Amino acid sequence: MCSPEIVRLAGSAGPRPSRRTLLGWAGGAALAAVVPARAAAAPRTGGVVDLTHTLSPGLPVWPGNPPMAMVPVAWHAVGGFGQFALGYWEHTGTHLDAPAHRIADGATTDALAVDDLVAPLVVLDISAKAANDADAVVTVADIDRWRTEHGEIPDRAFVAMYSGWEGRLGDPSTFLNLDARGVPHAPGFAAEAVEYLVTQCGIAGAGVDTLSLDCGADPDYGAHTALLGAGRYGVEMLAALAAVPPSGATVVVGAPKHAGGTGGPCRVLALT
Ligand SMILES: [Zn+2]
Repeated sequence: MCSPEIVRLAGSAGPRPSRRTLLGWAGGAALAAVVPARAAAAPRTGGVVDLTHTLSPGLPVWPGNPPMAMVPVAWHAVGGFGQFALGYWEHTGTHLDAPAHRIADGATTDALAVDDLVAPLVVLDISAKAANDADAVVTVADIDRWRTEHGEIPDRAFVAMYSGWEGRLGDPSTFLNLDARGVPHAPGFAAEAVEYLVTQCGIAGAGVDTLSLDCGADPDYGAHTALLGAGRYGVEMLAALAAVPPSGATVVVGAPKHAGGTGGPCRVLALT
């Protein structure tokens, strides 16, 4: 869970404190309490929300990646059973980013801690600013605002950015939103916000409803590096985050488990 004092200072105006300074403040965290000690979670409704897009050849993919392919290799009228051969790059559709996606010796899909795949779900809604700015990012101030409204981020949480981007899927070109140079423009996490969630809030993973944890136009991939470099996992192209509460739900990430994988399509459910 986040340190309240660190969040108050990190979210204030003025020069951004260094990571070393932030870590130093941790000892004085008890001095101030600017957020409720516990999230005021809504009562469970017993519902299940599917946070997964239907995987199909029509889904937009990262520039340069091929769309997924489905080839029928058996059919009922012939042998009595139906079966497709699937072809896709790992980072297609609603999918996992294992640490090995960014870090050469990082954990692969088959090495993830299963405890981290079932986690408290935190939804950070930046749809208002994303509607006016395709390069909008989740900032430390956005995290601070969530904490003020909902309380502490639980330990080992999964923190998801909701930008409203799936509303563009009717026209995949607007979902990718490439500029004249072929650079995608879509919201993501600021690198310092991810570093903050990892080092100060102890998250298990993070997700976005766009194709990249980073703002699409960010050439440095700092959010990927901060998250995956810390051994945490990501999920990209989440669906239906507007249908779950900002706090109180539990996410279940049905991650792939192929040997040595860097990620892959997964089924993600929210228990509300
Ligand atoms: Zn990915």
